[in-house]
Amino acid sequence: MTTYEAVIGLEVHVQLATRSKLFCSCSTEFGCPPNENVCEVCAAMPGALPILNRQAVRFAALVGLALDCRINSPSLFARKNYFYPDLPPGYQISQFELPLCEGGHVDIPGDGGGVKRVGITRIHMENDAGKNIHLPERGCSHVDLNRAGTPLVEIVSEPDMGSADEAVAYLRTLYGVVTYLGVCDGNMEEGSFRCDANVSVRPVGESRLGTRTELKNLNSFRNVHRAIEFEILRQRDLCEDGGTVVQETRLYDVVRNVTTSMRSKEEAHDYRYFPDPDLLPVIVPEGELEELRASLPEMPQARLGRFATLTGLPVADLEVLVQSRALADFFEKAAGLADPRKVANMMLGPLMRECHATGAKTGDPASWAMTPEAVAQLVGLVDKGTISAKIANDIFPELFRSGEMPESHVAAKGLGQISDAGALERAVDAVIAANASEVEAYRGGKRKVLSFLVGQVMRQTQGKANPAIVNELFARKLGDPS
Ligand code: ADP
Ligand code: MG
Ligand code: ZN
Repeated sequence: MTTYEAVIGLEVHVQLATRSKLFCSCSTEFGCPPNENVCEVCAAMPGALPILNRQAVRFAALVGLALDCRINSPSLFARKNYFYPDLPPGYQISQFELPLCEGGHVDIPGDGGGVKRVGITRIHMENDAGKNIHLPERGCSHVDLNRAGTPLVEIVSEPDMGSADEAVAYLRTLYGVVTYLGVCDGNMEEGSFRCDANVSVRPVGESRLGTRTELKNLNSFRNVHRAIEFEILRQRDLCEDGGTVVQETRLYDVVRNVTTSMRSKEEAHDYRYFPDPDLLPVIVPEGELEELRASLPEMPQARLGRFATLTGLPVADLEVLVQSRALADFFEKAAGLADPRKVANMMLGPLMRECHATGAKTGDPASWAMTPEAVAQLVGLVDKGTISAKIANDIFPELFRSGEMPESHVAAKGLGQISDAGALERAVDAVIAANASEVEAYRGGKRKVLSFLVGQVMRQTQGKANPAIVNELFARKLGDPS
């Protein structure tokens, strides 16, 4: 029987985090009362003329540079004509023949375990449409134009991915790039980062592409994965039963976990693209491009590699720390003040646990009370033997919530480790006297009993005894077991 492989290409829409819209000075703020941020340009009054937002072009070019694209100068804006109530002019302003960026690539973790390179066909700029708000109970629909004119880039990939896992790995990598660049707020619920997935299957060994379907408006990594997975199986079953895939647009139904047909190729739009006569060709001067290139921050993957070297911990464990640029900065700050590996372990363990326990955002350290200095200081206190690792763990939740510095907290609560040999010796003696049979067993060769005895001293001192000194005391008093 023929075996089939999947082929996936993605179109990702990224909302650029400019304060004003692409062709007018209206605010892009989300969640305002309907039609508050609307002017003659975004409402398409006759004679109103668009003026290009310079910052949006800079942001779009940054994305292109980060993905190793060629930046076209000039690039052209074109009208993409179609009718829809949320699109007052009757066309979207997009780029067609000459997009801003072309021919890049991005490296992702592939299914085989190695690195996989996914080609970027093009990145073009365009404006978003408004929103139709349907009110069935009132038998009407309203149009909200607040979003109309919001700047977007569409990142179009080559059909280079072979599974839902690779598609999601690609998306996550892109997400990391645009949020590290600071050109997108990354808010997927608000639609700031959304994608359409093109899926086809073909017999293994075949080089021509199969007929594709396009899955629309997938707004979470999870839904992208599930929709693609479903669609691959559907097409595979269809082909194995001797059927053929029809080129069409399909919608993912989250509740039923299926994709259903929305419109076929025959009903597909003919957009009649042509260069927008209201807008000049866009030139990005070489000097400005150089300046943008020089401002590119270190990307998540590169940072991850560096953190692995710094800590000696596996890349897979450290991924959590590069989920946002702010969190990676937080780690780097703390790791510069204390043992990096111990800082990483404290952040991956107790700190992430507290985030989840309190509902704090793991990627947004600015919203926490705890500072990188506090994390480093706590690591330092354990390292110096001022407090035990157990105490550090115990007080972590309080420190996380209050933002208090560990040193003053430990001093105020008298949690300092007992390293005073006299006090510890008395405790060790008491444990030896109270556990005659265990001591006997130890002397008879049962070395494991030692950890029980040390544990007893810990209990008596509420975990504050310095374990190294306690161990040393037992060794001296009980000798080496025969
Ligand atoms: P359109 O703009 O009509 O959606 P494009 O040619 O721009 O068409 O392709 C859009 C996306 O579809 C690209 O990401 C591309 O890689 C992907 N794609 C094209 N053909 C296939 C196919 N046969 N199987 C999977 N993906 C495909
Ligand atoms: Mg498409
Ligand atoms: Zn406007």
